[in-house]
Amino acid sequence: MNIILFGPPGAGKGTQAKYLVKKLSAFQVSTGDILRDEIKNNTYIGKKIISNMNEGKFIDDEIVNKLIENIVSNPSKKNKLIFDGYPRSLMQAENLTLLLNKSNQKINFIFFLNVNKETIIKRIAKRKNLENRTDDDLDTILKRYDKYMETTKPVLDFYSKNANFFEIDGGQEISEISRKIDTFMNV
Ligand code: AMP
Repeated sequence: MNIILFGPPGAGKGTQAKYLVKKLSAFQVSTGDILRDEIKNNTYIGKKIISNMNEGKFIDDEIVNKLIENIVSNPSKKNKLIFDGYPRSLMQAENLTLLLNKSNQKINFIFFLNVNKETIIKRIAKRKNLENRTDDDLDTILKRYDKYMETTKPVLDFYSKNANFFEIDGGQEISEISRKIDTFMNV
């Protein structure tokens, strides 16, 4: 089963991705985590992206697309992919379709965790205290939200026409959201 978790920053995509990974013995594909690892390991890409990441800007499609290529085409991960934070632009969505087609895969479910701006601001302020992410201060959150509305929302509108697209109120308790996901998947 391949699943895309969609939603603004702070919607709870990472939390539900971890739930699904455990439940389905799947693999989380978090481009945010992959990019943070590049920075932590001080790689060539890490050096290139650090300032954009800290400022809450998107990383170039070419870089992100390249980083997920090996994961999607890895036979041991086939049909066990939980996308969290990818795709975030129409170009990334097109790339994902191509990569999946190439390896004879498809997306089974798209879950949109819908959360309003006020809740996001509150949640991310809490996360900053817990995780100390450099892109979690208020100014940067607002920028990330605007960028989401501008670049990622069109991807959402595109996917929302699919029969396997489901919207869930992301303002609910974590366990309730997981329960809704289970209901939609019928597992
Ligand atoms: P996240 O952990 O998903 O909130 O992502 C943190 C940051 O990583 C984002 O604000 C972007 O700077 C970058 N990032 C993560 N995923 C992507 C993506 N698919 N496309 C572009 N930038 C991304």
